[in-house]
Amino acid sequence: MDAYIVTGASKGIGQALCRQLSRSGHFVIGIARSQSKEWSGKRFFVFDLARLLEIPRLMADIAEGLPEDVQRITLINNAGTVEPIGFSDNNDPEAIQANINLNLTAPMILCSAFIAQFKSKECEKAIVNISSGAARKIYQGWSAYCASKAGLDHYSRVLDAEGADVKVVSIAPGIIDTDMQAQIRESNAEDFPLLGRFRDYKDTGILSTPEETAAELIGLMGRSDFRLLDPVLDLRTLPPYEKEGTSDQ
Ligand code: NDP
Repeated sequence: MDAYIVTGASKGIGQALCRQLSRSGHFVIGIARSQSKEWSGKRFFVFDLARLLEIPRLMADIAEGLPEDVQRITLINNAGTVEPIGFSDNNDPEAIQANINLNLTAPMILCSAFIAQFKSKECEKAIVNISSGAARKIYQGWSAYCASKAGLDHYSRVLDAEGADVKVVSIAPGIIDTDMQAQIRESNAEDFPLLGRFRDYKDTGILSTPEETAAELIGLMGRSDFRLLDPVLDLRTLPPYEKEGTSDQ
């Protein structure tokens, strides 16, 4: 049996991931501040990831509930926020702090706790960090978001180079019709000059659904050459499969 630990499991991409992984019979643990109805009676930790120093304890509690015969454990750092939206001279210090804590510091502590917690566990291990195109491109008005996601990418490269027995990827998932996109569309052009383009994305129907994106992420994690992939990826431009026989690392 495979186990998945998913942050931001209450809505959007995280909820769709958990729904599909559970439906396929996997052991799924969700984490978020609020628990949607479909999680009732399931393995859900109501937890605010702003409680950074309590994260190692959370990981230990999660580990205690895992089945003995688990063959692969995957941590998916998906919880995130785009706020504060606005030019940096106008960003509230608490909002900057909350952004970096949720988008970068919490995933770093989760990765660190995950690697340490399962060090002696003999099974396959993987970490999927949900990044953003904003890690790699400049978006005026999203300085904290861009910086936090760029940090997440580079952190993932370092983890990869440190060579723990945990495969790490940081992946930009595309543009998806979630509450986060609604929040972006509700901002104003003074704070976010590309507002019109993001409203057009919705109007012209080019946003992916959370279910489509979740299915693609699950496809990625299931690739036979998953462990050979670069640590920084984009779901829209994945490399072709490595040839049979070269993917046995
Ligand atoms: P949503 O806003 O729809 O969902 C965010 C999730 O994070 C929710 O489940 C929320 O749950 C959880 N969350 C927020 N704050 C906390 C917290 N303090 N502690 C614990 N959980 C928290 O976002 P998306 O599904 O759109 O985004 C998921 C990921 O994908 C993010 O990392 C985002 O940056 C990335 N992404 C999204 C894109 C898009 O177009 N939607 C594009 C590129 C990247 P709750 O409120 O219950 O705590």
